[in-house]
Amino acid sequence: MPFYEYICSEAPGCEHCREAFTQLQRLSDSPLTTCPACGSAIRRVISAPNLVGNTASDLKPSTIEKAGFTQYRKIGKGVYEKSAGKGPGIISAD
Ligand SMILES: [Zn+2]
Repeated sequence: MPFYEYICSEAPGCEHCREAFTQLQRLSDSPLTTCPACGSAIRRVISAPNLVGNTASDLKPSTIEKAGFTQYRKIGKGVYEKSAGKGPGIISAD
C-alpha cells in the first residue's frame, strides 16, 4: 500500500496537519479531504522524489498534469514536443 502525503490547505490547521503528514492508504481508497485530527481541509502533496522513483511508463499525462508538471518528449535533435501539462507546444534548442 502506498503512502500519501497531505498538508493542511486551510489555516491554521493543527499540529498534525500544519506540517505535511503521511497516510497509508489502499490504492482503492479515495484521497483524504479533511484532517483526521482537526477536520481542516487538506490537500495531497505530490512530492518530486515519488515521481522520480517511478519509471517513465508509469507517468500518465493526466498524472503529470495533476501534479502541475509539464512533460516533453524528444522529436528531433534539440527539439521537444509537449505531451502533457502547460507550456509551449514545442521547445527547440535552436
Ligand atoms: Zn489538523
